[in-house]
Amino acid sequence: MTVTPAHLRVLASRAEALTAELRKLCDSAPHGSPEHDHLATARHAADWLARGAEELQRAAADLARLEAQPCGLPWAVCPEHGNTLSSQAGVSTCRVCRRSWTYDRPGQPCREPVTWKVIDRAGTETRMCDGHVLGARAAAQGATFVRLGAGGTQQ
Ligand SMILES: [Zn+2]
Ligand SMILES: [Zn+2]
Repeated sequence: MTVTPAHLRVLASRAEALTAELRKLCDSAPHGSPEHDHLATARHAADWLARGAEELQRAAADLARLEAQPCGLPWAVCPEHGNTLSSQAGVSTCRVCRRSWTYDRPGQPCREPVTWKVIDRAGTETRMCDGHVLGARAAAQGATFVRLGAGGTQQ
C-alpha cells in the first residue's frame, strides 16, 4: 500500500472530529459537579488529540511536497515529445511540436513534475516526467512502467 497525503488527511480529520466530540462531552458536565472535576484527564486527552491532528496535517503537507518533486534528470527534454530538442545559439526547439525555449534546455536539469516510476530489470527505481519516460521506454528493455496519479499517488 502506498501512503498518500489523502490518507493522512483523512486520519487527521478523524482525530479532529474525535477531539471535538471529547471536548463536547467534557463540557456537558456542569461546573462544580463531581463528573466535571474528574474529567480533567479526558480534557487532557482532547488536547493531545488536537495536537495529534495538527501533526498529521503537517505530515500530509510534507508528503504532498515530496510528491511534487521535479523529475531532476540532468538534461531537460520536450515535456510532450521527449528527446526531440535541438539547440542552436542558446535556443532549444522541439523537432516535433516546434515549441522553443530561449535557453539551452538540454543543458539544464529537468523541472517537469514526476509522473512515472520506472523499475529496471535490476530493480532500480527511477521517477521521471512524461517527456523522459518516452526515451526510457525506447531504451529500457524489460523495465516496468508505473503511471503515478495526480499528486504522485500510485494508481
Ligand atoms: Zn515537442
Ligand atoms: Zn524529466
